[in-house]
Amino acid sequence: MDTGSISGLVLAGGRGSRMGNVDKGLQPLRGKTMVEHVLARLRPQVGPLAISANRNLDTYRAFGAMVLPDESPDGVPEYAGPLAGLAAGLAHCATPFLLAVPCDSPFLPPDLAQRLLAALQDNDADVAYAATQEPGMRVQPHPVFCLVRASRLPELAAYLEGGGRRVDGWHRELKSVEVLFEDGDAFRNINTPEELQQMDDTAAGAQSLSQVASCISGYDPDALSVRDAQRIIGQFVQPVRAVEMVALRASLGRVLARDIVSPINVPAHDNSAMDGYALRGADLPADGSAGFKVVDTVYAGRPSGVIAGPGECVRIMTGGVMPSGCDTVLPQEFADSVGDDSITLRAGVIRAGDNRRLAGEDLAAGSAALKAGRVIRPADLGLVASLGFAEVPVQRRLRVAFFSTGDELRSIGEPLGEGCVYDSNRYTIYGMLQRLGCEIIDMGIVRDSPQALEDALRTACENADAIVTSGGVSVGAADYTKQVMAQLGDVTFWKIGMRPGRPLAFGRIHSNGRSAFLFGLPGNPVAVMVSFYFFAREALLRMMGAEAPLPLLRARSSGAIRKKAGRTEYQRGIVARGADGVPEVRITGSQGSGILRSMSEANCMVVLHDEQGNVAAGDMVDILPFEGLF
Ligand code: AMP
Ligand code: MG
Repeated sequence: MDTGSISGLVLAGGRGSRMGNVDKGLQPLRGKTMVEHVLARLRPQVGPLAISANRNLDTYRAFGAMVLPDESPDGVPEYAGPLAGLAAGLAHCATPFLLAVPCDSPFLPPDLAQRLLAALQDNDADVAYAATQEPGMRVQPHPVFCLVRASRLPELAAYLEGGGRRVDGWHRELKSVEVLFEDGDAFRNINTPEELQQMDDTAAGAQSLSQVASCISGYDPDALSVRDAQRIIGQFVQPVRAVEMVALRASLGRVLARDIVSPINVPAHDNSAMDGYALRGADLPADGSAGFKVVDTVYAGRPSGVIAGPGECVRIMTGGVMPSGCDTVLPQEFADSVGDDSITLRAGVIRAGDNRRLAGEDLAAGSAALKAGRVIRPADLGLVASLGFAEVPVQRRLRVAFFSTGDELRSIGEPLGEGCVYDSNRYTIYGMLQRLGCEIIDMGIVRDSPQALEDALRTACENADAIVTSGGVSVGAADYTKQVMAQLGDVTFWKIGMRPGRPLAFGRIHSNGRSAFLFGLPGNPVAVMVSFYFFAREALLRMMGAEAPLPLLRARSSGAIRKKAGRTEYQRGIVARGADGVPEVRITGSQGSGILRSMSEANCMVVLHDEQGNVAAGDMVDILPFEGLF
């Protein structure tokens, strides 16, 4: 089949009324938005791809398809509905056929385009649409899943002009053919938040790690790339959904659980950006100078009822509400002369409209001021306050239990026997979890004994959403660590192409009807931190319902760095502004995975990717800075 002859169109323009008026296509399902699931299913079946949407256009654009807002054909009043989206899709369709599907059908069949096209061509029809039939039931048509000849736009325009609004109604005006599909579930759409949640839960229960891993081509647990490990982890973990309302100040650092929609325009009125004189832009002189009579004074917070007529102006303070008739503010220092009740100004010092802040320019009423999923920062506190909200819906804190394993470990305060080391990992892990805003359960040191380990894992599992352990997962470690972890659930053990931090245990364990995701980090102190930041961090954030990928920046390497291609290396670096203003990074001394000082001295991590080889002095490299302003 020639997929290039078909354009795909995802209909995401509806209002999602049963979902509480949210943008249905952007609802999260298994770590992605619904529309992304639909696009992923559609992409292999068609050539060009478009999304019909009327809100959040930039978000939709980011998914890499053309975004088409509704356009009513000439003579048709505006309305929202699938046919409006179809009309826009047909108007922009550059291929002979258009395949439309709704945005809430993440399971659409992989052979949808192929079978609809075959039926359309065999029957020389204008449109082919899908249908299903449960045993003993009537045929259930799914008219919105349809393949149409792009040349049928005039018929659609005529149908709409006649007041028609139904997709099946329009099909009846055409030569149409119904195509029966076997899998009814493939056309299931999602209408309520409950259905969405249910689907998410089922998926979480149904997908085993090996199922997730099987999506990775050439999957080998003993030679896994960092990227593939991250992908598997990202697909396997599930958000913990529980919302709580907290006082505005207490929301700092928490994950916003729902969009904050502005109930008002901010600012509420057009107002002045300067201390000066509000006047009518039309009165500004084209040349020479002009005089204005000062008819009133407006202070911030004290609007005036005055209406400025031609040749009049109003003295106004910053933030003062613009008086009726005025659209421009002359900053006071720009006045040519200021008299008792008059001013003069010269041509060209300002333009009409200058120094006026427009109502709603910060936030328009009805728009999302903050999106669910963001980690709340100081500016957001102010933004929420500017809307007048005292409380904020946030995700409940993620509960994370953690412990260290190893007979050689001692807790601080204990004497250090021969061959022993103080347990430092528990402190770095504490710090990293604390910074993520987790509720933490410190379970101390667990001895290298199967029973002690099983007891600890069970307790952790019954009390936490996630478990972070360190030590015991490397090759040399006693095998029972792995055995015990594996016995308690679906856990896999990887050797990852990275340095430091090769071994990693990951999965989900169960105990007494409870479950928790497990991150078994290696024991070496630097490896612990690197594995935490590059595997656990993002997964824990996803469980919290947040998206916060780490931003990599570029810096010039001041020295040569030896690096083996075929694995990812994380070197500790110190970045500073170079003489020419370009950031320059140098590696902190010894890079051994046990040398925690390298981490402490560093202010960034140099990320040398899989395919990269040796770095020469002066080469640009990726870095991950440790500190950010927020
Ligand atoms: P393992 O993965 O258990 O073989 O540990 C690897 C190395 O990391 C050994 O040298 C351990 O002594 C060390 N190590 C493991 N856990 C800790 C910890 N909590 N604090 C400091 N060092 C540790
Ligand atoms: Mg150990």
